[in-house]
Amino acid sequence: MSVLNEFTDKFLRSAQEAHTYRTMRHICTPEASHVEIANESQNTARKVLLLASNSYLDLCNEPELKQAAAEAVLKWGTGSGGARLTTGNKTPHEELEKELANFKGTEAAITFGTGYMANVGTISALCGKNDIIFSDELNHASIIDGIRLSKARCYVYKHNDMADLQRAINDAKMEQAKKSSDIDEHAEPAHSLIVTDAVFSMDGDLANLPELQKIAHANDCLLMIDEAHSTGVLGKTGRGLAEHFNDMGIPCDHADVTLGTLSKSVGCEGGFVVGSRQLIEFLKNKARSFIFTTAMSPAMAQAAYNNLKFIEQHPERVQSLQENVKFFCKALVKAGLVPAGSQLAETQSSAIVPIVIGDEAAALTASANLQERGILIPAIRYPTVAKGQARLRASIMATHTQEELLHAATCIAEVLTTNH
Ligand SMILES: *Cc1c(COP(=O)(O)O)cnc(C)c1O
Repeated sequence: MSVLNEFTDKFLRSAQEAHTYRTMRHICTPEASHVEIANESQNTARKVLLLASNSYLDLCNEPELKQAAAEAVLKWGTGSGGARLTTGNKTPHEELEKELANFKGTEAAITFGTGYMANVGTISALCGKNDIIFSDELNHASIIDGIRLSKARCYVYKHNDMADLQRAINDAKMEQAKKSSDIDEHAEPAHSLIVTDAVFSMDGDLANLPELQKIAHANDCLLMIDEAHSTGVLGKTGRGLAEHFNDMGIPCDHADVTLGTLSKSVGCEGGFVVGSRQLIEFLKNKARSFIFTTAMSPAMAQAAYNNLKFIEQHPERVQSLQENVKFFCKALVKAGLVPAGSQLAETQSSAIVPIVIGDEAAALTASANLQERGILIPAIRYPTVAKGQARLRASIMATHTQEELLHAATCIAEVLTTNH
């Protein structure tokens, strides 16, 4: 066996033994509340209810938006032909960024190829090896990779634990004070960044934005939040985490840096950062994942612009999603299943509803049994979540009917009780 095959084979065999081997489902219809899964060996397809999509508002397959996207391809062609800083920057990019700033209520916006690239580029542009980053232990992989790339010193705090964040800040200050004697006094002053998911992608819970702002302010830290799963989901009009708290009467500003993706509720592709004009100009000049890559296709930028406008004009779509989430959680409770962290059932706001099972193999079996019954809910396992924390992760869409959600909750309960 070649060295390469030996090395890759060993990895794959141990993944198989640990029940963490990954394969891709082949879906042969567009992303919508129902999809068909191809069975290649039998040359058939199976229609399932999709409780697994990030397209929370079901915009990927919305007829008028598909038509507008098709027209954008006819107008702007298939590709952008260059980086944003060379020839790639077309009218749709300019309009999309204005619209993003407008939607989020900030001065300016910058788009990236993906949300992953936005995190990697933004964190490594803002922080270098003399800086300090405080990171929630459940932050998304793209945040973690951005931190690694920045080479900043990173302190991980316990999930959503504001006392532990303060503890980490105090630890960092003490270490800095010890080192300060041998720091070059001409060096730029180090800065500190707190970074967190707004909605945690595997648990569906929310970051405590008001408290984070207080702590950031009191300790001279910048605050960055990743709104991948909250844009289009939280707040009466889908503006995200700050709107969610403001709706509850808890005053809340934007974080210094707000990041998001166009690939989830917006139903397109691309990442973005919104904030002050100064911040955005800085990122255009410094973020390597913005500079050294081809601009997203102008048709995609136009589609994202159209879909954002659709969200603005259809707040009832966001409200349907929120009602569906509440309905589904109640149905789970009635069926005897309380979603992870029992407080979730009452206060669940995000569209991600985890049902923690623990054992990797049991989670896989439950997911397979549900698929047999025509419901697609993935099993999430290590390394996406910690070992022994495997779970079914249901994601709700605005277009699911209550009948479908009730049926799904009943099936989940049945599958889990017959499993044990
Ligand atoms: C999905 C996700 C991203 C990445 O966004 P893409 O556009 O899919 O690359 C970043 N952060 C969080 C929290 C996410 O859930």
